[in-house]
Amino acid sequence: MDQSRELMSLHECPHCHQPGVSSFEKLNSLFFAPASCRLCRKYSSLHYVHGLRAMIAWVVLTWVFIGVALYQGLWIYLTGSIPAMLFAVDKYLLNAPLLPLR
Ligand SMILES: [Zn+2]
Repeated sequence: MDQSRELMSLHECPHCHQPGVSSFEKLNSLFFAPASCRLCRKYSSLHYVHGLRAMIAWVVLTWVFIGVALYQGLWIYLTGSIPAMLFAVDKYLLNAPLLPLR
């Protein structure tokens, strides 16, 4: 899958059910400001539980890579943590539904 295109793609807004929220805004809604739909201008955000899930998935996968690195004696395996993070963000955050705010 093309990660850069994925980041530009639009997600369904919980208010108007149209693809009006970008991946960037969707991720941003978890940590900073609510995402605003470019079609109906209403706000939505990701539930923090999805953030926790992504974090846990990433930490677990990172520990797997640390284990392999220790076992093989090759620290290059630690770079696996980066695709693991992309995987966790994609699977647990970008695929998670947005919650409507007001
Ligand atoms: Zn909308």
